[in-house]
Amino acid sequence: MQKHYDVIIIGSGAAGLTLALHLPKHLQIGLLSKSSLLSHSSTYWAQGGISAVLDEDDHFDDHVRDTLQAGAELCHEDATRYTVESAPELIHWLTELGMPFTRERGEDGERGFHLTREGGHSHRRVIHAEDATGKALQTTLVNRVLQADNVEVIEDAIAVDLITSQKLGESGDNRCLGAYVLERRSGQVYSLSAGATALATGGANKVYLYTSNPDGSSGDGIAMAWRAGCRVANMEFMQFHPTCLYHPDAKSFLISEAVRGEGGKLLLPNGEAFMQRFDERADLAPRDVVARAIDHEMKRLGSDCVYLDISHRSKGFIQSHFPNIYRRCLELGYEMDKEPIPVVPAAHYTCGGVLTNLQARTDIDGLYALGETACTGLHGANRLASNSLLECLAFARAAADDIAIQLSEQPPQPRNLPAWDDSRVTDSDEEVVVTHNWHEVRRLMWNYVGIVRTDKRLARASSRIELLLNEIDEYYGHFKISSDLIELRNLALVAKLIIDSAIKRKESRGLHFTLDYPEALAEASDTLITPQPRRED
Ligand SMILES: Cc1cc2nc3c(=O)[nH]c(=O)nc-3n(C[C@H](O)[C@H](O)[C@H](O)COP(=O)(O)OP(=O)(O)OC[C@H]3O[C@@H](n4cnc5c(N)ncnc54)[C@H](O)[C@@H]3O)c2cc1C
Repeated sequence: MQKHYDVIIIGSGAAGLTLALHLPKHLQIGLLSKSSLLSHSSTYWAQGGISAVLDEDDHFDDHVRDTLQAGAELCHEDATRYTVESAPELIHWLTELGMPFTRERGEDGERGFHLTREGGHSHRRVIHAEDATGKALQTTLVNRVLQADNVEVIEDAIAVDLITSQKLGESGDNRCLGAYVLERRSGQVYSLSAGATALATGGANKVYLYTSNPDGSSGDGIAMAWRAGCRVANMEFMQFHPTCLYHPDAKSFLISEAVRGEGGKLLLPNGEAFMQRFDERADLAPRDVVARAIDHEMKRLGSDCVYLDISHRSKGFIQSHFPNIYRRCLELGYEMDKEPIPVVPAAHYTCGGVLTNLQARTDIDGLYALGETACTGLHGANRLASNSLLECLAFARAAADDIAIQLSEQPPQPRNLPAWDDSRVTDSDEEVVVTHNWHEVRRLMWNYVGIVRTDKRLARASSRIELLLNEIDEYYGHFKISSDLIELRNLALVAKLIIDSAIKRKESRGLHFTLDYPEALAEASDTLITPQPRRED
């Protein structure tokens, strides 16, 4: 089967949905979601909010400066300024769509937006919808997309690979022609052709054993773009949240940093407080310092987790300040008012990704990358809190404008693309290869390429990931694909891109910390890696 659209959008989080809504209504759009449209994105789980200069005492220059500072001299000022200056209009656009931002009555009696302040921001500028901004955002955007006549939503469909002119052996500049897609229920693979294709598949945080992200964050867009010939940038900068609940059923449950803000203390398994050994601010040190300290202690003791203790606070206090956290912990058998809860740091945000320009274009004609999949230059070596949802919105709009121009100059024609060839593969007789390697990749990344790195650990990771990639490639070549196999293949490739990028950076900067080069170099530069011509997938 083959279908044609003017534009295919792969991914249905903030970036993909916003792009769909900004594209001209005469364009026919196919919007892919690898599971259900509503809740399987990082967007849905975002808590804090969206940064935007909305207060009259705040200034674009201050937001730009805060972002550049967080990014440890690696942010691109043009991308930063573009994003920051787009924010008020985009917030206005969301409000018009019905986004229920939290409001408060000001001194003048008017009900304005309530703005919070987060770490690294010099001003109150985080607009939010209570403590579940992502859920409100995803719901608002999904409702609008479902009303749009020009958007066909294709759920439970996972993009496998991009189809490019180069892969088809055509001469001239490499152009993206569409994608192969696996329909999960039927197991059939079909091709979609399009005049423009956008990758909006989110980040790659599932590459680590512990992550705050939903299951789908397997770096699919980054891996597909790389296999198609795009450069990726700054993949070594993975942001870790210091405290995720450690429990087999909790998966990705964040314990807000506000728990430490309200007096919560981190403890070793023997009950000893340890943060004061690492930073004079102890438990209130910045996110990356705390994550590094926990990682250090876990590695030193060989322990699976540390503990967070706020049991000196009353039950009433904890319930009123952290109702969701209290409820979830109780469900899992932990009474926060009586005992410490087990926590681990967790991979939270992928700062690097597919290299794009200010229009979200990649190295391949007709291919765009957006949101957490992309490296636009905004985040540099460390993301400033609440800038990521803003980036999704800002670059989706830029991409929509660019696609509209490109497709009006060169209207897309339906093309016959080769059908997916599975004539030489059989049903898998050893699914264990997929599950085993899935765990191995994530554990190896956690142990060797985590929060604190060394040359030795990276070298170990590098040789192991090569073995795993070979094994996975061989399996992929012999057996019918499944969504688990697609994700594993992407996860292992992205792991390699992270390892290679980390090996290239001979300094500590932002989120990349290595014991072998603890200082930053005098000059900051991006880590760019370029795919080599390779054997066909
Ligand atoms: C717990 C948590 C809290 C956060 N809090 C904040 C916050 O307060 N403020 C902030 O700015 N940022 C926050 N972030 C980060 C922010 O939510 C994400 O960076 C952002 O939502 C990413 O949006 P996206 O559209 O790029 O990707 P996502 O929202 O992850 O969406 C990706 C979509 O692509 C689909 N997909 C993936 N691969 C494929 C494929 N192969 N085929 C088809 N579909 C595919 C997925 O199913 C998903 O629907 C938080 C993240 C988490 C996890």
